[in-house]
Amino acid sequence: MLRSTLLKLSESQGFARWVTCNRTTRRMSHRFVAGEELAEAISAARVCNDQGMLVSLDYLGENVLTAEDAQRARDAYLEVFDRIAAEKLNANVSCKLTQLGLDLSPEFSEGQALSIVERAASYDNFLRVDMEGSAYTERTLEVVKKVRQRSPAIGTVIQAYLYRSEQDVQDLLAIGCRIRLCKGAYSEPPQVAFPKKEDVDANYIKLVRLLLPSGFYHGIATHDPRMIGATIRIAAESKVAKDDFEFQMLYGVRTDLQRQLVRDGYRLRIYIPYGRDWFPYFMRRLAERPANLGFFVRNFFR
Ligand SMILES: Cc1cc2nc3c(=O)[nH]c(=O)nc-3n(C[C@H](O)[C@H](O)[C@H](O)COP(=O)(O)OP(=O)(O)OC[C@H]3O[C@@H](n4cnc5c(N)ncnc54)[C@H](O)[C@@H]3O)c2cc1C
Repeated sequence: MLRSTLLKLSESQGFARWVTCNRTTRRMSHRFVAGEELAEAISAARVCNDQGMLVSLDYLGENVLTAEDAQRARDAYLEVFDRIAAEKLNANVSCKLTQLGLDLSPEFSEGQALSIVERAASYDNFLRVDMEGSAYTERTLEVVKKVRQRSPAIGTVIQAYLYRSEQDVQDLLAIGCRIRLCKGAYSEPPQVAFPKKEDVDANYIKLVRLLLPSGFYHGIATHDPRMIGATIRIAAESKVAKDDFEFQMLYGVRTDLQRQLVRDGYRLRIYIPYGRDWFPYFMRRLAERPANLGFFVRNFFR
C-alpha cells in the first residue's frame, strides 16, 4: 500500500516541484544521489574505484517530452564516456530510453542510443539500458536488439517480477546480450507481474540459474542477502568463476554488504546516479524500503 502510494507520488509533478525546491529534501537526496553535477559523480566513482568497486554512472532523467531535451541527454552521455576515459575510471554508463526520446518515437531513441553506443565502443566501454515500467518493456527490448545488431557494446535489464522475463532472458541469451537482473522497481498490476515477494524472489533465482552458466558476462543486481547467497551457490555448482559475473548495487544502499562482497573477492559494480532530475529515482528508493520513509520524515522535521 505504502509502496504503491510512493510510486504513484513519484509521477506527481506538483509534489516533484515541492520536493526538489526544498533545501532539506535536496540535502536528503544525497543519500542515494551523488550530486547534481557530473563532477560530483566522477568524485563518487573515484572513491568506489579506490575501494575496489566498479561503477555505472547514470545521468538522471526520464520521459522527456521534446527532441531537444532528448538530444541534450544524449550529449550529456557522450560527455560522460569522454570523462570516464579522460579520468581513467573503471566505469560504464546506464541510461533510460525514455530519457532519449522513446515516448517521441522508438526510431528516434534508437538513433540516439546508437550514437552513445558508438562512443562507448570507441573507448571499449559499455552502455546499459535500464528497464522502466512494463508499458516500455517490449519497445526497450526491440530498440536494444536493433542497436546491438550494429554494436555489441550495449546490454539491458530484466526484471524478475515480470511473468514475461524468463522468455525475454532466453531471447536475449540467444543473441549473446549481456543482462542485468533486478527484481523490478515500478508499480505493476497482477496481470503482468508477480504480486507476492516470495514469487518474485523464486523467479529471480530461476533466472540466475539461466544467466550464470550461459557463458556471457551478466550483472546480478540486488541487495538481498538471500539472492546474493543463492547466486554464490549457483555459481559454485555451475563452476562459474568469480570473474565471470558481477554483483551490482545502488549508491548508498547496504554499503556494509558492498564492502563484504569486495572483501570476499567478488566483482561489484555501484550504480551512481547524478543530475537535477533526481525526484522519481529518489521516490523509488523510498518505496523500496519503508524504513527509508521514516528516515526521510525524521530528518525533514529535525
Ligand atoms: C544496480 C541496480 C540497477 C537497477 N536497475 C533497475 C532497472 O533498470 N529497472 C528496475 O525496475 N529496477 C532496477 N533496480 C532496482 C531493483 O529492481 C529493486 O527495486 C531494488 O534493487 C530493490 O530490490 P532488492 O533486490 O535489493 O531486494 P529487496 O527485497 O527489495 O530488498 C532486500 C534488502 O535490501 C535492502 N534494500 C533494498 N532496497 C533498498 C533501499 N532503497 N534502501 C535501503 N535498503 C534497501 C534492504 O535491506 C532490504 O531488506 C536496480 C537495482 C540495482 C541494484
